[in-house]
Formats: sequence, C-alpha cells, structure tokens
Amino acid sequence: MIYLDNAGTTKMFEKCAEVIKEFSCNTFFNAQAGYKAAIENRNILDQARKVILSRLNASKGEVIFTSGATESNNLAIRGSLRAGKSEYVFSSGEHPSVYNTAMELKNNGAAVHFVDLQANGQIDYDKLASTLNENTRLISVIHVSNETGAINDIAKICALRKKYAPKALLHVDGVQAFNKVPVDLSKLDVDLYTISAHKFHGPKGIGALYVKNKSALKAITFGGGQEFGLRSGTENLPAIMAMATAIQEIDVEKNLAYVQKLKNKILSYFSGKEGVQIFSGEDFSPYIISLSFAGINGETLMRTLEDEVIVGIGSACSSKHAGNRVLEGLGFSRERVKSNIRISLNAYISEEEIEKACEIIYSKYKELWEKVK
Ligand code: PMP
Repeated sequence: MIYLDNAGTTKMFEKCAEVIKEFSCNTFFNAQAGYKAAIENRNILDQARKVILSRLNASKGEVIFTSGATESNNLAIRGSLRAGKSEYVFSSGEHPSVYNTAMELKNNGAAVHFVDLQANGQIDYDKLASTLNENTRLISVIHVSNETGAINDIAKICALRKKYAPKALLHVDGVQAFNKVPVDLSKLDVDLYTISAHKFHGPKGIGALYVKNKSALKAITFGGGQEFGLRSGTENLPAIMAMATAIQEIDVEKNLAYVQKLKNKILSYFSGKEGVQIFSGEDFSPYIISLSFAGINGETLMRTLEDEVIVGIGSACSSKHAGNRVLEGLGFSRERVKSNIRISLNAYISEEEIEKACEIIYSKYKELWEKVK
C-alpha cells in the first residue's frame, strides 16, 4: 500500500517511539516539580523549545506547547480577543480549526471579516488591504493551504499589516509549512505561528504555538499556570521530546528538493491525460497536489484505490461535510469539487512508488469512467 495522505497525518519516525518510551517509563518526572530529576526535565523541555525556535529561525519569542494545531489556533485567536471595537480578519481558505473558531466569534457578536481567495489559491491581497484598519486586532492566515498547497506570501501580509493595521497581531497557521518549506521568522514580523508534530513524522496530539510577545496573549484555559500561564496542564514531555526529535531528523531543504522531484513526476504523468485537471501550480508547496478526475466522485475514487494507494479528498476534518468550502471559494464548480482528490507527499516515498501510484490511480479512474460514461 502506498500512502499519499501525508497532509492528513504522517507515519511517526521509529526514533520518536523510543523517545516517548524513555520519557514515559524512565525519565518521567513532572517538569514542574521541585526535585533535581524534575528540574532536569524542565531544562530538557526548554531545550525542546529552542529546537522549535531555531527551526523557525526566530530570534525572539517563546514556544507554548499545546495538544496540537487545533488548540494552538484556538489559543492564538481566542487569546487575542479584546473588548471594544476590535476587528478580526481571516482568509476564507482557513482550516476548520481557524474557520470554525472565527465563526464562533462572529456568532458571539465580534466583528469578523473573511477575505476571499484569488484564483491561484492565495488570499486576495487587495481585498485584505481594504479590510484592514486601525481597529484590526488580529489577522489570521494559513501559510500553506492544506487543501491545495497554495503558499500565502507572508512577507506581503506583514507589509500590509504594517501599513493599514499597525495595532493588529498576525497569526499564521503553519501546520503544512513548518518542516516542509523554509520558514524564517527573523525576516517576517509574525506574532503567532502554529505547528503540529503529526504532520512531520512526530506524534499525534502535540503541537506548539510560537508567541513573539507573551503579554499580547491571554490564556483561554486555567489551572496550574504552566507554559508561562498561557496553557495550564502538565506538559506532555514524552510527546514534546519526540516532536523535537522529529524536527532534528528533518533536513528541510534536502527534503523539499526531493519532494519537488516527486511532484514533478506526478505533474508530468498526469498532464495532458484525458479527464484529469491539476490545480496545484508550480509555485505551490510540492507536498500537496490537488487534482480532479472528470465524471468520477473523488470519494468513490479514493475508496476504489484504498487497498493499493491511499489518497485524501481534502482535510480529514472537513471530509465528513458535503462540499468543500476552500475549493468552492476558488470558484471551482460543484462537479469539479466533487471529483477532487488530494495527493500529499513525504520525503521518504521512493520515485518508483510514485510512478506505480500514478499508474494505479489513472487505471482505476479509467475503469470507473468506462462503467459510468
Ligand atoms: N491547520 C492545518 C492547516 C491543518 O492541516 C491541520 C490538520 N489537518 C490542523 C490545523 C489541525 O491540526 P491538529 O490535528 O494538530 O489539531
């Protein structure tokens, strides 16, 4: 079975499992306790923060460990909420963990704006500029779209914020970018940045929120005051250490070059093939390729392939719902949205597996098409 749903989740590195065992069964002490073994764990925890800060190339700021990106996104957004005339701006291409949080704010009476996407999958920068103002409290945008692989120009968004909404915080959901494409926060004026370990071969249920200035954020859960008071609860040291291990195992540039090669193979295989429409352009993240197969429901194709090749049909969180907000927001017809599948890669798939997967996908599509046409 060839697994091509890596934007959904990735296989954890074996080394992470060893680290989880070590910090669960041997070095298991509560990092907040006062004895030596616990203090050592606290120091180890701080080293894990440094691993993340260094991969983000952040010269200042702090890392708050969370249970994953959904929590990081909630903390970034709800922790930024302020009374008064504050306005909150999101792209309409956000993951449900941002989009539904934004809807919750809106339903509770907050001034929430959604900025449309352009046909190339990126946020419409002109519309963003005209939405921003002195009262904008938060701008939250996805870095790499989990649906299409489109990459938002964060530097451009930073410049728009500086010009039109100088008081706003900028939050970036970096789940599909971190450890996949270079992220350099020393060059970007980003206040909050979300990551999730299971998207880069770490464990599930662990993530982090990078926070440039801790005092800009308020806690949304309360308890023992861990994580600088911003996220109470005993730190999940085994998972945190496994996440740091996964980061250290990954060479971003090397992996990116290899995955680009895999994407090129896929694009050259499918381009010009009857019935196939590829959405993901050359400048998109190579890790995610969105394509549609005319006349066949994406879900049907996915289920037909699943014993040999596993592909996705968009965000696992949204696959239960009819339609696809992000693809429809790009102006795709309902038909095209329905026939969409998402191939998402990792750097450890062989070129032969990709060639084989392409052959299988297309021949299964043709078989299905022969039956219905
Ligand atoms: N944001 C994006 C862009 C994602 O792709 C995902 C995972 N599908 C999430 C947030 C949620 O991540 P988690 O599973 O860690 O809550």
